[in-house]
Amino acid sequence: MRGNGDQRGGIAGWLLLLVALSCPVQAAPEPGRDYLVTGAPTSEQAPQRHCTAAMQARLTERVEIPAPPEGWSGAPQAINVFNIFAGEVRVHHGDREVCGRMHDARTRDSRFRAGVGMVVVPRAGNRDPIEVAWAKPLKPGWIPTVRIGAPSPVQQVDTARLLVRTACVAIAIALAFMALMGFLSTRDRVFLGYALLCALSVLGQAVLSGLSGYPEPWLPIGDGESRWLVAFACLGLPTLLYAMWLLVGGARAWPGTRRWLPWLAAGICATSVAAGWLSLEGLSRLATGIDQGFAAGCVAILVLGLYFLRGQRADAIAAIAAVTPFLAMAVMDVIDSHLLIEYRVEAIQLSITWFLTVSAYVLNLRLGQLRRQRDEMRALADTDELTGLPNRRAGLKRLEQHMRDARAGEESLAVGFLDIDLFKRINDVHGHAVGDRVLVAVAGTLTSVVRDPADVIRMGGEEFLVLLPGIGGAIARARLEAMRTQVRATGAGLGIEGLLVTASIGLATLEPEDIDAASLLRRADEAMYRAKRAGRDQVVDAGAAPDGDN
Ligand code: GH3
Ligand code: MG
Ligand code: MG
Repeated sequence: MRGNGDQRGGIAGWLLLLVALSCPVQAAPEPGRDYLVTGAPTSEQAPQRHCTAAMQARLTERVEIPAPPEGWSGAPQAINVFNIFAGEVRVHHGDREVCGRMHDARTRDSRFRAGVGMVVVPRAGNRDPIEVAWAKPLKPGWIPTVRIGAPSPVQQVDTARLLVRTACVAIAIALAFMALMGFLSTRDRVFLGYALLCALSVLGQAVLSGLSGYPEPWLPIGDGESRWLVAFACLGLPTLLYAMWLLVGGARAWPGTRRWLPWLAAGICATSVAAGWLSLEGLSRLATGIDQGFAAGCVAILVLGLYFLRGQRADAIAAIAAVTPFLAMAVMDVIDSHLLIEYRVEAIQLSITWFLTVSAYVLNLRLGQLRRQRDEMRALADTDELTGLPNRRAGLKRLEQHMRDARAGEESLAVGFLDIDLFKRINDVHGHAVGDRVLVAVAGTLTSVVRDPADVIRMGGEEFLVLLPGIGGAIARARLEAMRTQVRATGAGLGIEGLLVTASIGLATLEPEDIDAASLLRRADEAMYRAKRAGRDQVVDAGAAPDGDN
């Protein structure tokens, strides 16, 4: 009875389990599985930067955006100020104000990241203008641009700009890593130089675009972004010009100019360090001077590129392509283009990115060229010049590979060590040129009778090694005997009167005691010498004593 009750309980348990599995689960949602809340409620006021009196004293330039004639509509107005190259910007309306500069992550309460901005909601009918004030621009034309409108579209433009700026920096970082890898694999210093140029451009672009402060300031430049900007321009633009000079092939055409390089580099470094101490006036002059010098340099590179283009130099096209956006910017500056004023940061960054990409393409070509050269060198190092056969070095590697394969597959392997008989006499009687012809003809004969031509190796002088994978014993001997006959026929086939070409061949088959290629070769070599001693023009097996030899 008890047993039956237990059985019924067991069946009921299984049934319950089945029902439970077939019903949808109605459990309460679990935090961490069905939803995730991060962060914590705060009592902190928005950590906005305050516009101090000292800060405002420097804001010498200002613009007022007047309310429409009928007053503000009551709809929210977004104001975003881009391209603040130096100092502070203040946006102000009624009792709302926001201050920010290039490097301070645009004040943490702002919804804008590429520019400094805020959203105000003026009361309907209110006529107070929105004021924007900023410090004197570092260079003429380097002025802030203000965008006003509904919050969403203004924010979209801001985000698009941030994305372009971030993408340019990201591309430069990726290219720097690519160049570092190129340097590690080739040890070619050009790659290292290019990686440094990319790294410099990353820092310069970060300061230029304000990304040095995003999401928190990560470059220790404090309030001195304009000085850093000029210092980076001092260092970066001449370096860029030098890279273009290399690209266009100037250094190759005039190698003497390399002597000036250390002096030039020292001058550039000294000027960029001096940017840290110059007065604002001096800084502004230096910035303008660098810009004009760079534009003149770009024109020179273009002229050189066009000059070299006539000589069909492929690099010249790359140099012209690389320099074109910078020249376009210089022209747009001269004609005071609004497009450039509005998107100056992006234009500069995109031009740098374009230059780095074109240079990366040229570097890639160089990498391909280096690889081809390396492959050619390797092939040359492994090939015998006269016969085109693998040389001793390559032959030993191949023999070791065959030995490994034979041992792994438990197959036989035989080698034939072949030495042309009395070759010195052939040289002496018929001349060295005939000797060479004999060597080439014998090489051709041997490669034509083996399965893989790479299995015939010129070991040096008039000595050849024939590898016979998968073959051993009597078959190997028969193959080598056939080769000996063919060598004789080859000599006769050259049609030189009195020329007799014969060869002595030592045969060795791979044995368990052959610990390396050298030991197998030694046995084949010894067998060959036994063949010589036994009267030449014969095959002797290392495993067996030749006729008449004891
Ligand atoms: P043995 O039958 O005992 O091997 O006599 P041998 O004359 O063949 O041997 P020896 O080692 O005395 O001479 C080899 C000669 O091969 C000497 C060298 O000048 C010649 N030799 C080596 N390399 C070349 C080459 O590339 N071209 C020519 N024409 N001769 C070469
Ligand atoms: Mg010899
Ligand atoms: Mg010889």
